[in-house]
Amino acid sequence: MGSGLLRFDQLTELQQVTVQTALEAASRAYAPYSKFPVGAAVATSDGVVASGCNVENASYGLSMCAERVAVGNLYASCTSSWTARGRTDQVRIVCVAVCAPRVRGVQGDSVGVCYPCGACRQVLAEHAAPEAELVLVSLHTNTWEDVADASASGAQRCRYLVSSLEALLPCSFRKEQLPIGDSKSVPPAPDNT
Ligand SMILES: [Zn+2]
Repeated sequence: MGSGLLRFDQLTELQQVTVQTALEAASRAYAPYSKFPVGAAVATSDGVVASGCNVENASYGLSMCAERVAVGNLYASCTSSWTARGRTDQVRIVCVAVCAPRVRGVQGDSVGVCYPCGACRQVLAEHAAPEAELVLVSLHTNTWEDVADASASGAQRCRYLVSSLEALLPCSFRKEQLPIGDSKSVPPAPDNT
């Protein structure tokens, strides 16, 4: 996992678009209870980018994380390969960005980035390519107001921690472990004769 923070101009073009989308999404979060807005964005290799923000609820347990909202929005944005019976394909996320402007230093560091929670790591793993990258946004020396007020140039004021999604959830539970579609794994029908 990478350790140093990168500048905006050190990111790839796809990473830049993804972090900008996440930053914009953070300003749309509905987080009246935690006061902890989060923006996320997910991107596919063919350049489809979808955003998500956390959406809280008075029944706290029903709150949705930004990352999972983004995955849902990505499916709603991709129009290819579906039939009357439903989708036949699966999106392949190659880049994920997460921005939590109110986050404090975590895990003993002071870079001020926010990692996805465990539930979101599992959901992202289902839809991510093996080489998928995770880009975590640090406000660096700026306040959220500095970044948000700067609009398009706000992303250039931030710093970025680039990591691998795989590194966050090794040995994840995978759909390949399910017997679905594998006729050899289906128990034989009971013989009632
Ligand atoms: Zn989460």
